[in-house]
Amino acid sequence: MDSADISADLSEVIVTEADIRVKLAELARRIEVDYADKNVLLVGVLKGAIMVMADLARELRIHVSMDWMATSSYGAGTQSSGVVRILKDLDTDVAGRHVLIVEDIIDSGLTLHWLKSNLESRGATSVEICTILRKPDAAKIEVPVKYVGFDIPNQFIVGYGTDYAERYRNLRDVAVLAPHVYQ
Ligand code: IMP
Ligand code: MG
Repeated sequence: MDSADISADLSEVIVTEADIRVKLAELARRIEVDYADKNVLLVGVLKGAIMVMADLARELRIHVSMDWMATSSYGAGTQSSGVVRILKDLDTDVAGRHVLIVEDIIDSGLTLHWLKSNLESRGATSVEICTILRKPDAAKIEVPVKYVGFDIPNQFIVGYGTDYAERYRNLRDVAVLAPHVYQ
């Protein structure tokens, strides 16, 4: 769906489909150089990363493998605790592999911080991160992100894979959700 289809639900479009296409091409050119002949394994974090994975992978002019993980924060609270439970693990043995984690958005960074060390502990040769969106809070935890699409304001956004109550993932753009939708 386009932002125009649901304009009443959105207060502002902050990244358009066209912006994303241009940015992914830029990131892909860097990734192609960095991973030339490295047989990179792209690891997408379900479900948010499906759009960026599909678009980034098709933009890349090198061979890649793709695999998926699903995780959830442990415990009942709404605050991410940093303890993560694996809901769906990789099918791939990452020992000796160059891994590039592909994410939709980094907020606190706690999930990725955990995921990066988890994959390193399995013997991956390298583990880097590519995210299309990053919020300023992500700077607070030590998780170096090599490939960042857009730094965005600290507002709740939806679209391009990110959701509110499982909706809006199929929105082509990234937009701030209007407060009346969740209040
Ligand atoms: P964190 O970096 O461990 O805090 O977790 C990031 C995850 O929180 C993302 O993968 C999203 O699933 C979710 N998330 C964070 N901010 C937003 C947002 O603004 N809209 C939708 N989902 C978000
Ligand atoms: Mg995610």
